[in-house]
Amino acid sequence: MVAPRVFREVISQPEAVAELLREIEKSNQIHHAWLFTGPPGSGRSELAFAFAAALVCPAGGCAECNACSMVRVGNHPDVQVLNTERVQISIDEVSEFIEKSEQMPALANYRIMIVEDADRMAERTSNLLLKSLEEPPRGTIWMLCAPSESDLLPTIRSRVRRIMLKVPSVEEVARLLVEKYSVSENLALTSAAQAQSHVGMARRLATNLQARERRSKVLEVVLAITDLPSAISASEVLLKLAESDGQQLTGELDEQERAEMMARLGITEDTKLTPSIRSQIKKLEDAQKKRSTRSKRDGLDRIFVDLMGLYRDVLAIQLGSGQKLINPDLDGEIRSLAKDISQAQAIHAIEKIQQVRYRMDRNVKDTLLLDSLAVTLRRRKS
Ligand SMILES: [Zn+2]
Repeated sequence: MVAPRVFREVISQPEAVAELLREIEKSNQIHHAWLFTGPPGSGRSELAFAFAAALVCPAGGCAECNACSMVRVGNHPDVQVLNTERVQISIDEVSEFIEKSEQMPALANYRIMIVEDADRMAERTSNLLLKSLEEPPRGTIWMLCAPSESDLLPTIRSRVRRIMLKVPSVEEVARLLVEKYSVSENLALTSAAQAQSHVGMARRLATNLQARERRSKVLEVVLAITDLPSAISASEVLLKLAESDGQQLTGELDEQERAEMMARLGITEDTKLTPSIRSQIKKLEDAQKKRSTRSKRDGLDRIFVDLMGLYRDVLAIQLGSGQKLINPDLDGEIRSLAKDISQAQAIHAIEKIQQVRYRMDRNVKDTLLLDSLAVTLRRRKS
């Protein structure tokens, strides 16, 4: 079976896509609960959305029709998405979501329920989901997304079909950038390496000069931390960079989605807006507003990935591993840092970045964590 077009957006996951295609081929007996796992950037929600589009599109996932486009911008009535800005998904959010799962599909044959951060549920909240996962109404299909299986309760794991995503190689990500965005091979490879194969970040670095400048600034600021005062001011700069990056990113997406929606509805400047069109626009705007509160988290996440890459480079030089640097453009600075700090300090820096990344992902407001990271990263001889 030829993969429907919607799956072309999902790169380097041939096994996962093949399994979903086999399922679609069986058509009338699609399994009712799925779990997509993979690290951030591996495309787990993209895969869930592609699967959803393949199921609700009358042409099986053409990527061009109204249904596919509605899934893409998040306003298809039969594809419901639960994502949260909070540390945890609340029990109320889940029970409301379960109620929606019991309604009949409006346009399609299926009602798809996507939970984007399924790892953010307390045990009590997870338990509420169990029954729905086991016996949803006919036509309802659950798709949970999480970093790894171990983030979920065993009782949930045993009720879902699992699809594991792998991290694509730098070369695979670079190939996608060249093919899809016509960037030069050199820029594509650099961006993919710098983003450490995070597809979304790599695409942004390759296609957006400001994003590249923001990234250099992050590394420059951190490399210049020598004492406590410079650590605290670096932490402030990083936070501002994360915010402005997040805002810019959502701004670009908002505009693109709005334009796409206008084109789909055939609206020009002087079209008179009917109530139905107005309500569709309102729905899109609401979804966009919700996303903007998530943007700071995404901005921070990109910074942590960049910092992890920096210290991985330092360690590679210290160990003389001959590994290609993630930041070849900073070769001199990285060598000098590798001399200034010990291997133990470099390893400690990486551990600390991971720890703060995990904690701030759950609580972006805890800026003291960022201060403590900056203090750890100051350049000092052991
Ligand atoms: Zn379609």
